[in-house]
Amino acid sequence: MDALRNDVSRNARYGDLSRRIFLVPRVQVHRLNLTGNTVTSIDLSVEGIRQLLQLAPGCAVVVANGTIEATRLALESLGVGSLQFGSSRVGNLMGHLRSNITVRIKRTALGLVGPPTEVETTALIVRGSAMGRRFHHQVTAADTGAPNPEQNMWSLVPDIDLINSLLASQDPNWVSITFRGIGEMEDQRAIGNINPAMSWVDLSQETDQWGMRRAYVNLVATPNDRKLWAAMDKAALNLAAALAKSPANIEYWNAPNNQWQAAPLQPDASGRGFWQDFLGTTHHESGTLFMGAPGASITDTNGKFHGRSNAYVVGPAVFPTLGSANPSLTALSLARRTAHAIVSAAAPGPMAGFVSLSLAPADWQMVKLPNSPASMIHYGSVMETFGWYGLYWYLKEQFTNFILSLDWRISRREENSGVYIRIPAPNVPNALQEADAKGHEVQIDQRGFDSVTNTEGHPLKVTGAIYDLQAPSASTQVQIGAWNNYLIEANGPRIRVTLNGQLVNDYQSSRQQTGYIALQCHDFLSRTQFRNLQIKKLP
Ligand SMILES: Cc1cc2nc3c(=O)[nH]c(=O)nc-3n(C[C@H](O)[C@H](O)[C@H](O)COP(=O)(O)OP(=O)(O)OC[C@H]3O[C@@H](n4cnc5c(N)ncnc54)[C@H](O)[C@@H]3O)c2cc1C
Repeated sequence: MDALRNDVSRNARYGDLSRRIFLVPRVQVHRLNLTGNTVTSIDLSVEGIRQLLQLAPGCAVVVANGTIEATRLALESLGVGSLQFGSSRVGNLMGHLRSNITVRIKRTALGLVGPPTEVETTALIVRGSAMGRRFHHQVTAADTGAPNPEQNMWSLVPDIDLINSLLASQDPNWVSITFRGIGEMEDQRAIGNINPAMSWVDLSQETDQWGMRRAYVNLVATPNDRKLWAAMDKAALNLAAALAKSPANIEYWNAPNNQWQAAPLQPDASGRGFWQDFLGTTHHESGTLFMGAPGASITDTNGKFHGRSNAYVVGPAVFPTLGSANPSLTALSLARRTAHAIVSAAAPGPMAGFVSLSLAPADWQMVKLPNSPASMIHYGSVMETFGWYGLYWYLKEQFTNFILSLDWRISRREENSGVYIRIPAPNVPNALQEADAKGHEVQIDQRGFDSVTNTEGHPLKVTGAIYDLQAPSASTQVQIGAWNNYLIEANGPRIRVTLNGQLVNDYQSSRQQTGYIALQCHDFLSRTQFRNLQIKKLP
């Protein structure tokens, strides 16, 4: 949501045309449709009306609708899952094993002298492992005789006005401590031969209102999970007992009986403790579309479905194992990796003999007119002009004879930009004027606009022109919104411009034959984008 808000505040100037990210509300995705190995359309409903969304060639599809729904889509649409039980099934479904053990320990046993004079509350993490798997305890403590030590912390954080009532309600004798244990379920990284006694997801015979089969979820704790759970709880109880030093200094909260008891907590005859939450209540379901090697997992380490050219998944669904940490930050980190992989796959590498220009902002410098807010925004591998007049110098190197290849696109006909070549350094006096006077601008402007007369149609100022020096020799009208390619060859005095494969300018220059490259920010109406800048040096 933050990304959307940022986009609206920054890019909504020309409505949807200049926006970069959209959230389409009230859409339900039913199915992904494959042509060969590629998702080419999506079966969905918008505001309750079923529709087919056709995808443009090259489009990547990222399934990001939560572990269970993502799994349903993959089972339904992507040929994922073992057929050993008739209907496609995936294993490796995991959640966390969670316990909530609360004790109270005498202040004196903790070395605290006298009743509390300040609000005393704390929180910490204690990590452990058993049977090769992890667990941790989220420990919260407060000077309260009641079994809710977290309450003081959460009350205090937002509202300092509550401090007097918190102080008045502190217990003079006891410190309450909750050990919230989070344990790692065992994984089942198999794509065939799935153990039905472990956790899995398949497609139910029951259908939803759209006639689509629902996901059926089987989430169970295995005997090994029960052992880890017991070990985790024992670690908490041992830690509490060690803090208390003597059984006389500790009491245990018995939630079903709603009272403190001196006797240590015991599980019931089935081995389950009342302090253990039911499975699934942590909402940390994960793992069904786990990453790994082809043939041994569902997705690769970028979250792309094996054997599918453009379908990815993000979220805890891709975890091979769960660990004990809450899943969101891990899932977000992996989602960044997926995003990088998609961008890298979409951005072609340099052509033979060419090298890519660096996109690191440190390798570029904007020189602006006084008070101009000109900037170049870097969106991954795409750069976009912003504000009004400035030139964005590529600092790393000067070039003499070369072929420069770059892609550019405009989002509206009125946009104006240009590619400067063989210009002086950005730190010379009057660098912007010097660039115009000594270098060359290969123009981008569909209108051929002259700002002095406020008129269009000037051949020396239209796309493909060597600005104010030589008009293009062919039409240079391009499709708005589509990427175009400029191949700019500068060899001795000769400068040739090829637009989308067609030679449009062949110019003999009498100006300097070496210098820098720069991209032009022209005006607020222009949000010209550039990508895939690469250069081949000529002898
Ligand atoms: C009460 C609660 C507390 C939690 N606390 C924590 C915590 O403290 N720390 C932590 O790390 N994790 C926590 N989690 C877990 C965390 O929220 C999830 O792991 C995480 O949100 C999963 O991210 P996701 O992108 O896979 O799915 P989600 O965040 O669930 O996003 C899926 C989105 O897809 C949409 N969607 C679903 N199906 C479709 C469909 N067919 N078509 C179109 N859209 C669809 C949903 O509406 C939703 O907006 C908590 C979860 C819950 C429920």
